[in-house]
Amino acid sequence: MSINTDLLHAHQLHARLTGSYKPEAMAHISPIYQTSTYVLEDFDSAVYLNQHVDEGFVYTRFGSPNCDELEKKIAHLEHAEAAISLASGLGAISTAVLSIVKAGDHVVFGDVIYGCSYTLFAKVLSRLGVTYTRVDTSNVQAVADAIQPNTSLVYVETPANPTLKISDIAAISEVVHQHEGITLIVDSTFASPYLQNPLDLGADLVVHSATKYLCGHGTVTAGVVAGSKERIDRCRMPYLQCFGAVLDPFAAWLLMQGMKTLGVRMERHCSNAMKVAQFLEKHPKVDRVYYPGLESHPTHEIAKKQMHNGYGGMMSVDIKGGVDAVRKVMNNMKIFSLATSLGNVDSLIQHSPTMSHFDMSPEERHAASIFDGQVRLSIGIEDVEDLIEDLDQALKLV
Ligand SMILES: *Cc1c(COP(=O)(O)O)cnc(C)c1O
Repeated sequence: MSINTDLLHAHQLHARLTGSYKPEAMAHISPIYQTSTYVLEDFDSAVYLNQHVDEGFVYTRFGSPNCDELEKKIAHLEHAEAAISLASGLGAISTAVLSIVKAGDHVVFGDVIYGCSYTLFAKVLSRLGVTYTRVDTSNVQAVADAIQPNTSLVYVETPANPTLKISDIAAISEVVHQHEGITLIVDSTFASPYLQNPLDLGADLVVHSATKYLCGHGTVTAGVVAGSKERIDRCRMPYLQCFGAVLDPFAAWLLMQGMKTLGVRMERHCSNAMKVAQFLEKHPKVDRVYYPGLESHPTHEIAKKQMHNGYGGMMSVDIKGGVDAVRKVMNNMKIFSLATSLGNVDSLIQHSPTMSHFDMSPEERHAASIFDGQVRLSIGIEDVEDLIEDLDQALKLV
């Protein structure tokens, strides 16, 4: 089936009602299994299930029917053998990364990635004896040059948060897989499975903050990892088991509802964002627009090659006049909410240097084109004329 049909029907369960209802009926939408534990049939099935947690349900930290339904859907959408859901994007990223790296290893990651992912490598794993090199991952040669004999992980975010830099997944995969024992993880949050499938391009694992486009309505924090069954099993036991970033069944259920409209939402996000980007690119108060759909975007050609259906709803904008201009614009938006996060149906504006990327040093930020006069826009599915008018009236005040 094609993706919009799959978003609605792939692995959609219709749970049979128990009890004496006649004629028998099934719930159209799965019930929420809001239970922490499962009553097991007998001693032997308890022994068996504790050793085979992927085959049934024992305890919600190891898995639940709602998470299972979600995971099968994600695996299907990402063309993966298996997937695992976690309590947040960072829960997914830290679980996936820790299932790979150990003390003494070296990690290569992008100079532009989500700020808290940067923190995981630069401030947490570095304390545990994992060294790292930050590189411009849009430069494949730079990735190749950064690989060391003890490199076990190359971590790429594309499109990258917040400058929308695009890295060539297929080319990086080729470089990485010339070496034995290096895993390539791609954070595909900004694209969602509707616009990009990193596993098809050679990545070993794809991670998403499902808080963003997959959910779409700003109602949950969640994360997912997809890849081979062997890799996903390892994420579950012992890493989910021990770090415990388990997704709540209700959150998994909400995510299932949100994902049904991913396709129609993404199409509107993409068309609205393209129009907003074209408008802002010509605006006298704007220095630069970072949107991979624009031909002026330095990595537009790679985006064209590896993304499908569009370029997404995210962009960053350098406003003339620095932080003072940013303050004026952000304080005067009428439709855009001043909020971090992204991928919601409604539009959001944030200041990346002090919000999503506060943990990077100013030098690291500036070298990565995350400038002090920059705002990040998450373009929603409102009528685009209203969004353009809102931006224009705020920019006029600068
Ligand atoms: C938001 C975000 C994350 C973190 O996800 P949470 O759900 O907030 O934990 C990771 N990567 C990218 C690209 C993000 O935008």
